[in-house]
Amino acid sequence: MAARALTGAYQRDRHRLVERLQASGIEDLAILHAFASVPRHRFVPEAVRHRAYADAALPIGHGQTISRPGVHALHLAFCELGGDERVLEIGTGSGFQTALLSLLAGEVYSIERIPELAESARRALGEAGVDGVHLTIGDGSGGWPEAAPFDVILIGAAAPEPPAHLYPQLTPGGRLLAPVGDPEHQELVCVRAREGSFDVETIDRARFVPLIGERGW
Ligand code: SAM
Repeated sequence: MAARALTGAYQRDRHRLVERLQASGIEDLAILHAFASVPRHRFVPEAVRHRAYADAALPIGHGQTISRPGVHALHLAFCELGGDERVLEIGTGSGFQTALLSLLAGEVYSIERIPELAESARRALGEAGVDGVHLTIGDGSGGWPEAAPFDVILIGAAAPEPPAHLYPQLTPGGRLLAPVGDPEHQELVCVRAREGSFDVETIDRARFVPLIGERGW
């Protein structure tokens, strides 16, 4: 198919994806606008590009996946972003969620342990016109203490237990969202930093690749 026809097809598919997200209960207009703006097809390998706007997790190489758009949307809704927040993303993966965050938050920090994924995420972010994101390669299981505190910490891989060692990297009122559990049984956990304490709420069941590192598996 000619490049122009493909671009038009992607635009239609993206529009339908936004309609599906809205129908599934995502009401936040900023989140819907971010999904309408970020070209998801640029963040997935060519072999699965035709499925870029399906509500499906897709392989991105190195045994990793990009999550379903519905999962990204739900996680972003729990982050309650107003546009000014400092956000830490642990597990850049394809960079797609990083691009969404760049439209929804003030400053985005993202860590990926697999160098090849970090590099292709960097490339895709550039192609999508996203700049100003702080992207680094390494084990993010201990957070990013030098850049802390963060208003939001989003973990894109499953930690063995609620990552209490990251709570000190949250601002007062900050939120942390993490899948917690083993490869078969995980729950999505939302932590809120209150004055002097942390509320831990289980939101849903989850299925993510493992967080691998010193404070992970
Ligand atoms: N949200 C991402 C996207 O939009 O493509 C998908 C994230 S993918 C489910 C999880 C990512 O976490 C993988 O790329 C994996 O390599 C990464 N990861 C796992 N353990 C990590 C760690 N300790 N530090 C940084 N990244 C890690």
